[in-house]
Amino acid sequence: MIEMQDVHKKYSNGVTAASGINVTIKQGEFVYVVGPSGAGKSTFIKMMYRAERPTQGTIMVSGMNLSKLKNNRIPYLRRQLGVVFQDFKLLTRLTVYENVAFALEVIEESPSTIQRKVMETLDLVGLKHKARMFPDELSGGEQQRVSIARSIVNTPKVLIADEPTGNLDPETSWEIMNILEEINTRGTTVIMATHNREIVNTIKHRVIAIEHGRIVRDEQRGEYGYEN
Ligand code: ADP
Ligand code: ADP
Repeated sequence: MIEMQDVHKKYSNGVTAASGINVTIKQGEFVYVVGPSGAGKSTFIKMMYRAERPTQGTIMVSGMNLSKLKNNRIPYLRRQLGVVFQDFKLLTRLTVYENVAFALEVIEESPSTIQRKVMETLDLVGLKHKARMFPDELSGGEQQRVSIARSIVNTPKVLIADEPTGNLDPETSWEIMNILEEINTRGTTVIMATHNREIVNTIKHRVIAIEHGRIVRDEQRGEYGYEN
């Protein structure tokens, strides 16, 4: 599903954020990416959806070699990957419904298909009743659920989440985790960078720890492993 071979990333300011990364993530896995701030977690996952390009090495996603991917294939790659951010990144002038529908409208689905998929996805995240509301009328947890709905409405093979609970209180964070678990149970690979020790140590999954741009630990049902 996702494979990195000897991946290096050096930013133009000279900072090395990835240094010889080798990893394979299979379809259906749930993977936590942990490590200190500045360790290279975001860079690692940004390279998966080609928000950053490696300076060396090979990255394969869903059979596509990202180094060789033509620009006109990037929309196809992005459809295989849903991405969720710490700060939600919703379109504030659009309703909940429209934020989720947007991803489908750009790929020219029929109106009835869009309507069905959007409402099914809002139902999955428990927000069907808030379809007409605007993001600033929602709590942080609800906004994150909209952002998850938007990222999965295309039924991507992989959901990438960069600190999805970073701005949320503990209770809301658990609600978000339940949704990510459900999405994973339905077959989507989930890759989640996180600083949430409680969650990683309670809902056990594979843990990849990154320090100084290197994978220093990779364990099935691993522990968070840092004091926080
Ligand atoms: P993490 O997600 O673990 O906090 P990042 O991948 O964001 O780590 O950052 C790894 C290192 O790369 C840090 O030293 C950071 O300052 C640097 N870095 C991240 N993004 C950029 C960028 N766009 N330009 C230059 N340096 C960057
Ligand atoms: P239900 O299956 O519960 O009848 P509806 O399809 O009636 O759900 O939609 C529930 C909410 O979603 C309503 O607030 C409705 O206005 C909104 N909604 C449904 N379809 C659209 C659409 N195409 N554009 C904007 N909002 C919509």
